[in-house]
Amino acid sequence: MLAIKGGAKTKTKAFPPWPYFDQGEEKALQEVLHSRQWWRTPGSRTLEFERAFAAYHQAKFGIAVTNGTHALEVALSALEVGFGDEVILPDFTFVATASAVLSTGALPVLVDVQDGTYCIDPDQVEAAITDRTRAIIAVHMAGHPADLDRLAEMASRHHLLLIEDSAHAHGTEWKKRKIGTFGIAGTFSFQASKLMTAGEGGIILTNDEAYEEKVRSVHDCGRLPGKWFYDHYNYGSNYRLSEWQGAVLTVQLRRLEAQGAKRFAHSRLLDELLGAVQGITPQRLDERCTHNGHYAYIFHYDQEAFAGLSRERFIEALKAEGIPEQASYPPLHALDLFESGAYKGRLLPGDNSSERRMQEVLDRSFPVTEKAAYETVWIPHFAFLGDEQDVQEIATAIQKIQRHASELLP
Ligand SMILES: *Cc1c(COP(=O)(O)O)cnc(C)c1O
Repeated sequence: MLAIKGGAKTKTKAFPPWPYFDQGEEKALQEVLHSRQWWRTPGSRTLEFERAFAAYHQAKFGIAVTNGTHALEVALSALEVGFGDEVILPDFTFVATASAVLSTGALPVLVDVQDGTYCIDPDQVEAAITDRTRAIIAVHMAGHPADLDRLAEMASRHHLLLIEDSAHAHGTEWKKRKIGTFGIAGTFSFQASKLMTAGEGGIILTNDEAYEEKVRSVHDCGRLPGKWFYDHYNYGSNYRLSEWQGAVLTVQLRRLEAQGAKRFAHSRLLDELLGAVQGITPQRLDERCTHNGHYAYIFHYDQEAFAGLSRERFIEALKAEGIPEQASYPPLHALDLFESGAYKGRLLPGDNSSERRMQEVLDRSFPVTEKAAYETVWIPHFAFLGDEQDVQEIATAIQKIQRHASELLP
């Protein structure tokens, strides 16, 4: 009997808890405590973390910031993106990708994603480029890289800036090279649900030395390294990460390789197991993706293969079987922020042409994003940090629901 009907749960042994920590984090936090260097400016922990995270991603520079949203805001602000500019980004992402663009006064131009990978569609990007376009933000959805060959080529051909929102993709690779430096900047988040965490936190990676200096300045009140503390050269704010977080993240980073290998291998095992299940289509793995960080395991759910059972009811049944689930994103274009016109408060007052342009964007259709938003199911990454039995049980639970689906119909 289905667990939701009072039967035994498929999952008996618990999934590994997240966030994960051990004595490494405890010791690091104690050390920061006793050092009395809690602030990054005179400290060494956050600096050490920046260098280690950048090196791991084969990047020259890393600038740690307060969170992944700020990473995008600082990255754009240091590029002097602002009023009158357009930035192209996927309709299917977390709101921060778009709100960061609005924070600068620029217009987020939403485009649809590719069926299969659910990453930004390069054809849609190309079609959305105008005289006002300054940048493209690619999102590596759930850890799967966007098509970096085409996006990097297109950015260079049109003289546009490419930013990789890599909040889901720590350690992800495209053709054996780590993501984050295929464009001018790669931004990451260390919020609690992400692949490594200090509760909050973020980082910007770049290979460009002049840009690194600008980013560092913007994130630290417009200061310049080596200059007097009360001299401010750029418009900036305080986006500094604390030493507590820097210390914890250094320890978390040391585990990323091994955890990433597990998430990837276990996800491939689930691909195999779900291959036999009608109506379930896992997110496509592009052959050029040599490692997917797997922030989540996404699959498309075809309710027809489940006796017409709605996705919502399927998810309830899945959770009852003991399998964790995390919500998919709603399409950005459907958010109140855009529908109500609230976004206009961020544009230059009286800029009617931007409002018209945004309306034109919002009036388009985004069929793949809608499919991704309303027909996929997400299993969070920590479910893949255990053993093969855990993975087997995810597949077993799905098959059990399929066999009994008609019992759950209204
Ligand atoms: C989490 C996330 C962010 C923002 O990161 P925060 O640290 O939560 O501010 C940005 N983009 C995407 C795609 C995210 O998932």
